[in-house]
Amino acid sequence: MTTVQEDLKSLAEQAGRDLEEASALDILKWAADTFGDRFCVTSSMEDAVVAHLASRAKPGVDVVFLDTGYHFPETIGTRDAVEAVMDVNVITLLPWQSVEEQDAEYGPKLHDRDPDLCCALRKVKPLEDGLKGYSAWATGLRRDESPTRANTPVVGWDEKRQKVKISPIARWTQDDVEAYVAEHGVLTNPLLMDGYASVGCAPCTRRVEEGEDARAGRWAGRNKTECGLHG
Ligand code: SF4
Repeated sequence: MTTVQEDLKSLAEQAGRDLEEASALDILKWAADTFGDRFCVTSSMEDAVVAHLASRAKPGVDVVFLDTGYHFPETIGTRDAVEAVMDVNVITLLPWQSVEEQDAEYGPKLHDRDPDLCCALRKVKPLEDGLKGYSAWATGLRRDESPTRANTPVVGWDEKRQKVKISPIARWTQDDVEAYVAEHGVLTNPLLMDGYASVGCAPCTRRVEEGEDARAGRWAGRNKTECGLHG
């Protein structure tokens, strides 16, 4: 690790402690003030809550969206609506191969046979490349989404990418999200009104049953809970 990265890591860990009780907006204002244009938000377009908060902290903020080629049309529509109505700069990242090219090399429906490889090719690698120009990135991770996210810091160090990782709504609950959406009229993915609690790629997402946690509909029936972006 270089000295710059060591300094960034210390900064992140200190900020994680200092900002634990801060509001989501204040956490994002800290990020905008600290990193300027080297800060971005990533969004799966499940909703635009973090993008909306970030646009208040930093109008015109970069919002990075990973277009895996497997999204629901509703997700692409949400991305387009966010771009049209919010004061943000949407950046769409594409995998190196189209779905057709991937099918030709690996065979069809790689997501059914080897979802880890499919996510690595269509999510992890494009994000790694897309984040190269940034020192810090913000996510919409929440501690209440699943046991694997229960210890998410509001600001931490992303060891894999050697960047500061900010989760401004880590302490929020689903009720907090819904209250923010209602108060500010924030765009949400229409699938959230149709039984989906967490929206990912179409082949790997199903509706959730009553009592299931929000991410139970992702890679259901498989021993997989995360795509590798947050591990
Ligand atoms: Fe492939 Fe499914 Fe991962 Fe999307 S979520 S990249 S379709 S394995």
